[in-house]
Amino acid sequence: MLSTAKTPGDKVFAFVKRYLHGKSALTKDIYDVKRENFNKLQNHHVQFFKDLLGDRTITDLHELEKYNQEWMRCVRGYSALALKPKTTGEVSEILKYCNDSNLAVCPHGGNTGLVGGAVPVFDEIVLSAELMNDIIHLDANSGVLVCQAGCVLENLDAIVAEAGLMVPIDLASKGSCHIGGNVATNAGGLKLLRYGNLHGNVLGLEVVKADGTIIDCLSTLKKDNTGFHLKHLFIGSEGTLGFITKVALQCPTRPKSVNVAFLGLNNFDKVLKTFKEAKHDLGEILSAFEVMDTATIEFMKEKLDISSPIGKYPFYLVIETSGSREEHDAEKLNFFLQSCLEQNIVSDGIMATETHKVNAIWSIRERVPDGFRKCGHLFCYDISLPLENYYLLVEDMTKHMGNMAIRVFGLGHMGDSNLHIQIEVEEFSRDLKNYIEPYIFQRTKQLKGSISAEHGMGFLKAKYLDFARPSSNVQMMKDLKRILDPKGIMNPYKVFPW
Ligand SMILES: Cc1cc2nc3c(=O)[nH]c(=O)nc-3n(C[C@H](O)[C@H](O)[C@H](O)COP(=O)(O)OP(=O)(O)OC[C@H]3O[C@@H](n4cnc5c(N)ncnc54)[C@H](O)[C@@H]3O)c2cc1C
Repeated sequence: MLSTAKTPGDKVFAFVKRYLHGKSALTKDIYDVKRENFNKLQNHHVQFFKDLLGDRTITDLHELEKYNQEWMRCVRGYSALALKPKTTGEVSEILKYCNDSNLAVCPHGGNTGLVGGAVPVFDEIVLSAELMNDIIHLDANSGVLVCQAGCVLENLDAIVAEAGLMVPIDLASKGSCHIGGNVATNAGGLKLLRYGNLHGNVLGLEVVKADGTIIDCLSTLKKDNTGFHLKHLFIGSEGTLGFITKVALQCPTRPKSVNVAFLGLNNFDKVLKTFKEAKHDLGEILSAFEVMDTATIEFMKEKLDISSPIGKYPFYLVIETSGSREEHDAEKLNFFLQSCLEQNIVSDGIMATETHKVNAIWSIRERVPDGFRKCGHLFCYDISLPLENYYLLVEDMTKHMGNMAIRVFGLGHMGDSNLHIQIEVEEFSRDLKNYIEPYIFQRTKQLKGSISAEHGMGFLKAKYLDFARPSSNVQMMKDLKRILDPKGIMNPYKVFPW
């Protein structure tokens, strides 16, 4: 006989409907996504987790809010349970139980991902790494750091700084994102130009598979060619292949001198020329090359009252150098700026060497996402394009949107050909979304780009995987998923089309 008793999921669902409807709709009500045939959470399941984790088993409806809603507030699930393990052993027991009970799981890091990957789509159990924040080992000589996956990036950086080191990635979300989340998304960020991506900087990983098996790839060696490099499978897998529990990271030496320039330029051709000059003149000390268009600065003024420190220009650059000798680095940057001004490539600019001034310039660029949540709705795209086509997409989308958008603006890690293009509108509508997508992805493909440069596919882009990758690639991804997670309990509806 079918039971009519309310499951924990039913209660959360009713809560969301009662208190939050209108504020932020449920993902399942916005998108045509169907719940897969996973079991619904029952009270005896919850009891198992309470016996295992005690009060680290979250069932309080208000407390669950932060696990059900993502950073941009574009997607929302209705999970009735969030679990906060502290050890790999606990993660293993949780996943084994979920796998045996056919319960879906959503890995959750700092919840700063921008494609809806870290929150449930329906009632998946949230598996949070937030209490897995121990430093396991730091070797100041080799620069190798081993830590648990839930360490917040900024905290890690402060810890390795004491040993004269730095973490090799830098994102504006560093105050909240986890190293495990960074690995799971293969995060890029502001310094990738200099320090390379996580496939290079992650030396090893410990991961728990869907069935609870602990995979030890936690090598701390730079060179280890004893077979397949399994860690790479999990870097950028967005929680769909396993739960990352530990990370071994190669940390570079912290630079003694950091200088930043903020420049104004009259057209994109000059932006490209400046990039070439910067690589030529600044060489090994160039550590970031960021571009913002004039609409980005207008957006910053309107949303956050932050202004450009120089006059109005169609494009602005933030260029950073990091090195070991202050006079040498400042001299190089000065020479570069002088040369750009003399050649009339750059129209105006300021340079900062003191830490507070450096930070003030960086905050103009880094605080852009703070304005995102002050919009009616913002469609955000994270695109990679060959440099010659880099800004064409912003121009194209501006035309495409006409007066349907409040503004279209572009900024990004230009040194890595990475463009963040945002479309601000009064409010979200399915019609608008359908008008923008797949058009923007088709144009990206025509311009020989990638539809996700750094944020991944998550939930919001998963539908376009077949479009983004050749079918042979997608088939191999599906085969690997089947081997590692045969029941598909790990982060369903993410990465793979739903
Ligand atoms: C202000 C701001 C600036 C940003 N700037 C950048 C940027 O410059 N470059 C960039 O690449 N991204 C950027 N992002 C996006 C985001 O910060 C990164 O994707 C980041 O790596 C996500 O880390 P997280 O811990 O918040 O992960 P979450 O958002 O919690 O999760 C992201 C994905 O990883 C999975 N996951 C999380 N933890 C684990 C784990 N332990 N094991 C397995 N899977 C896991 C989740 O299921 C989800 O699919 C920015 C975001 C914001 C809000």
